[in-house]
Order: sequence, then C-alpha cells, then structure tokens
Amino acid sequence: MPLTTPFTPDMIHSLTLSVYEDVVKLRRLFHENPELGFEEYHTSSVIEKYLTDLGLDVITGVAKTGVVGILHGQKQGPVIAFRADMDALPIQEETGAAFSSKKQNVMHACGHDIHTAMLLGAAKALSQIKEQIPGTIKFIFQPAEEMLAGGKHMVQDDVLKNPEVDAIYGFHVWPDLPLGQIGFKSGPLMASMDSFEVTLKGKSGHGAAPHQGVDAIVGGSHIITGLQSIISRETDPVDSVVLTIGTLTAGSGFNIIPEKATFKGTIRTIKDETRQRVAKDFTRIIDGMGAALRLEADIHYQFGYPVTNNAKEQVNHASQLAEKLFGERAIVQLENPSMASEDFSFYLEQVPGAFIFLGVQDDQGGAYKLHNEKFLPDERVMKYGISLYIALALQ
Ligand SMILES: [Zn+2]
Ligand SMILES: [Zn+2]
Repeated sequence: MPLTTPFTPDMIHSLTLSVYEDVVKLRRLFHENPELGFEEYHTSSVIEKYLTDLGLDVITGVAKTGVVGILHGQKQGPVIAFRADMDALPIQEETGAAFSSKKQNVMHACGHDIHTAMLLGAAKALSQIKEQIPGTIKFIFQPAEEMLAGGKHMVQDDVLKNPEVDAIYGFHVWPDLPLGQIGFKSGPLMASMDSFEVTLKGKSGHGAAPHQGVDAIVGGSHIITGLQSIISRETDPVDSVVLTIGTLTAGSGFNIIPEKATFKGTIRTIKDETRQRVAKDFTRIIDGMGAALRLEADIHYQFGYPVTNNAKEQVNHASQLAEKLFGERAIVQLENPSMASEDFSFYLEQVPGAFIFLGVQDDQGGAYKLHNEKFLPDERVMKYGISLYIALALQ
C-alpha cells in the first residue's frame, strides 16, 4: 500500500527525530515521578500544560485524573483516537537507572511512562503539520490501567464521544518481542481477567475429633482441585482458559479443625462465550462439591477486563503502515494471544481499533518482564511508536 499523503517514510522519521529529545526528557520525568492509579495528578498536570502549549483543545478531569487533547486537522476525515496509560505500580525500583523513581515502592514497571511520553511526542509532531491531517485526532491519557479499569471509566465519561471516535489505536511495550520488532494480531490479542473470592464454612472442632467438626481445609482442598476440571474436562482443549488460585487462608492452630477457608484467584479466557460459561461452571462446582462435603460457600465473582479484541481492518492498516516505515523484518504477525489482560479492551468494545505490541527485549533492562523491579525498556522504542502514530494520523 503506498502512502497516499505527501509524507514519505523518511519525512515521518525526521518529524519523529525532531520531537525525540523532548520525549526522552518527558519519559525520564514521568519515570522519576511515578503515580499509582487515579492518583496521577503530577503526570496529568504535565500533560495538560504540554498539550495546551501545543494549541490543542484540552479536557481534564476525565475519569478523575485523565486528560484528553483534541487536534483538529485542516482536511476532512475521520476521528481517530490514540490512547496512553499513565499509572505506575506498587513496586520498589531496582533498575539502577539515573532517573530511577524518587518514590518508595512506586515504579513505572509496565512502561506506561514510555506510552505517555510517546503519545505526547506524537501530539507535538502532528500539531506541527495539522494542515496535512485529514480529520481529527483525539489524544487520550487515561489513569489506572493496572487493576482499576481506568479505561472503563474513561468510556463511561464519554471519551469516545464529542466528537464520535471512528477508530482507536494504542501501544504496549512488550518484552516478549525483540527491540525493533512490532507485534500485530487481529481478533483476540489479550485475555479477559475476572477474579473471585470464596469463603467455605464448616464447623470447628478438636483436631483429635474430626467427626465432630466439618473440616474446611480438607473440603476446600477437594474443591480447589475440582475447579481445575473446568479446564481439563469441560473446556475444548484448543480453547485457552487459566484458573489460578493465588491465595488460600485457613486455620489457626495445628490441632484445631478449621471452621473457615478462604481462597482468591483469577480466571482468564480468550472467548467471551467461554468466559460466561466458566463463570457458571465455577459456581456450580463449588456449590455442588460444597454440598457434598457439608460446606457452605460464599462466592464473590467479579467480571473484570474483557477480552482485548482487535479489529482486522485496523490491524491490517497499521501493520501495512509499519511495514512501509520500518521494513518487512520489523513486522511480527502474532499467532497466539497473551493470557495477560488490558483495559484497552473497554474501548475496543465500543469502537474498532488495534492494540499493538512494541518489542523491547534486549540484554539489558528489556531482558526483564513487565512488572519486574528491574524492567527498563530501551527508550529508543519510542521512535517506533511516534512514527507509527504520525503515519496513522496522516493516513
Ligand atoms: Zn501492567
Ligand atoms: Zn501495562
């Protein structure tokens, strides 16, 4: 596909280079000053000022700390949204970087500092050529991607309306792909993420007289094992489901039959129909086995992030542009979804779009995985993101 704009790949790369120094400074500033979900006050004030100075229309206070910038191109065209997430994680940084987090136990360990800086760079580059842009670009900076569903709150606050968004794009740095490669996949890219907390209640008693109590640990162990049969016996083997129990709490002494056992965990699926079915199977098995083992079950099941479902058209469009910009060898067509999850999925439930992985794996800070205290992606990855944002806006 030829670029139909007068912009050649070289022109796009030099536009990217013209903002790159700014972007590196911003990234390091965000990295030094990480903020947890819905507390991104410093980050959003930097974004607000930066976008205002560029002459964009700026909306603040979306989903508490979210910021939106709107750039009106001077040609007719669609409304395209680009989204970055701003929040950090409760992790004590151990990267040894000169611009390490100044805060105890808060760190940008998921690359959201890079996502935010990169999108600001794209806003700067595009504001310099707005007479060439066909349509309107919405720059969405959302809070609280980690666990708190900031994306859902942004959608509820009508971020995709006024003007109505036609398509949305977002990036995530991805340590499973080498630096310089970009991963694309249409259809399900990332799994849904639901969670549960279950309390089983039996009857306490003396450790020497099990028959006089109802043992929540023995019964709970059977139930926990039984739950895995949802995957091994009730799910199509070529469909993927993960059921992980991450905590189990019970008992108060070695010679006491415990009255209660509580466990918490998460379920991941890549098909919505599987997601709905597994939620029902989960309750059925606990209630049924609980009854058999004389345990009362209190089940709290929470639907979290949906499946991140990429649209074919936007994925193909972006991967063709990326190939023009970076060559065929930079493009990876991913075969399988990741069982991790993303709240970008909430936008994709409303409008078509593509979530794209930017490879950062190297033998330094990109050798560590997301959420690791030593994860430090090479900031040159931002050049790929900015150039691709520019091409998407122009095309
Ligand atoms: Zn994360
Ligand atoms: Zn992330």
